[in-house]
Amino acid sequence: MDLIPSFQVNHVDLVPGIYESRVDEIGGDCATTFDIRMKTPNKEPAVHPNAMHSIEHVIATFLRNDAEWKDRIVYWGPMGCLTGSYLIVKGRPKPQELLPLMLRAFRYLRDYEGEVPGATPVNCGNYLLHDLTMAKWEAARYVEVLESHPCFDYPVVQRIAVKGGTFFDS
Ligand SMILES: [Zn+2]
Repeated sequence: MDLIPSFQVNHVDLVPGIYESRVDEIGGDCATTFDIRMKTPNKEPAVHPNAMHSIEHVIATFLRNDAEWKDRIVYWGPMGCLTGSYLIVKGRPKPQELLPLMLRAFRYLRDYEGEVPGATPVNCGNYLLHDLTMAKWEAARYVEVLESHPCFDYPVVQRIAVKGGTFFDS
């Protein structure tokens, strides 16, 4: 079997940031997947599963209510490696254009008070798997990264040409 594009990014040198992971054409329109990378892979502890689950709930709720972007949000969800999340949006914005949105979203989570939205047996498949305190702590760390040294480009050596396009995934 071929190595899927997801695993062709060199994760050794990958640092936290906002990256264009892949672009898909669907019926003449584009859907762009962004790698919202919160952690340096394999060099610092990944996000705890409970915290990542709370990040998923709070930020998905935020994105679907953001006046500027809500109509372009296709998907938000955690990476299996727990070092970041995927954001899929309609169209093909540059990663830099996502920075204000991600700052709004993670500042919202950093300062969030109250119950995790949708953390009930009716709305969630594992409603006890949450940790809002750690989610807020992780959000604060990522806000610091985005405010001080956001990275938007995979290093050149990581752009491995693949048959049928040059897209990357996590
Ligand atoms: Zn859930």
